[in-house]
Amino acid sequence: MVIFLEEKSECPFCGRKSLESSFTSLNIPYFSEIFLVKFQCPLCGYNVSDFLSTRYGKSIRCTYAVKSEKELAARVIRAATGTIRIPELGTIIEPGPASQAFITNIEGVVTNILDVAVTARKWAESEDEKRNCDLAIEKIKKAKSGELPFTLIIEDPFGNSMIIAKDQSNVSVEELTEEELRNLRTGGLMFFTTCDSDENIENTD
Ligand SMILES: [Zn+2]
Repeated sequence: MVIFLEEKSECPFCGRKSLESSFTSLNIPYFSEIFLVKFQCPLCGYNVSDFLSTRYGKSIRCTYAVKSEKELAARVIRAATGTIRIPELGTIIEPGPASQAFITNIEGVVTNILDVAVTARKWAESEDEKRNCDLAIEKIKKAKSGELPFTLIIEDPFGNSMIIAKDQSNVSVEELTEEELRNLRTGGLMFFTTCDSDENIENTD
């Protein structure tokens, strides 16, 4: 089901009243009532997306242990406000102003990290830097093949991110403490300020 907002709003990029918004309801097990929210401006090409869960408002931390290749298939739903950490790889993916929401699996997340490390290796100047990059790449490759066990953590102050595993009881889900919330970058979209009215929602199914 896709819901389009009939009324166009002001584009944050070009300032014209041409921004189109749509909400797509997604059917994801263990994570009911989640929408993919998209904003697009046909005039300047501005294009952002995010997930919006009806659990919204409650912070969340999901932790999942990857012990072998088979856990790499678990799905990762990362809203624009989600921070992903893999402590064993020293990796943190924080939300930024241009953060996009995505659904991938853990292997996809590790592949992205590998791409970043390979790019960093190309730009490395000193021998020390090159060696550090090589070590990191080696480790990430092992993680990607299931040889190196690691933990994937997603934290989201609005509870719009989630890890979906084959056996969901292996995903630990908890609320963040006040202090943890303060230390978390939010980034992402503040879409809830633009959809405060239900009146002009047109259901196009
Ligand atoms: Zn625009």
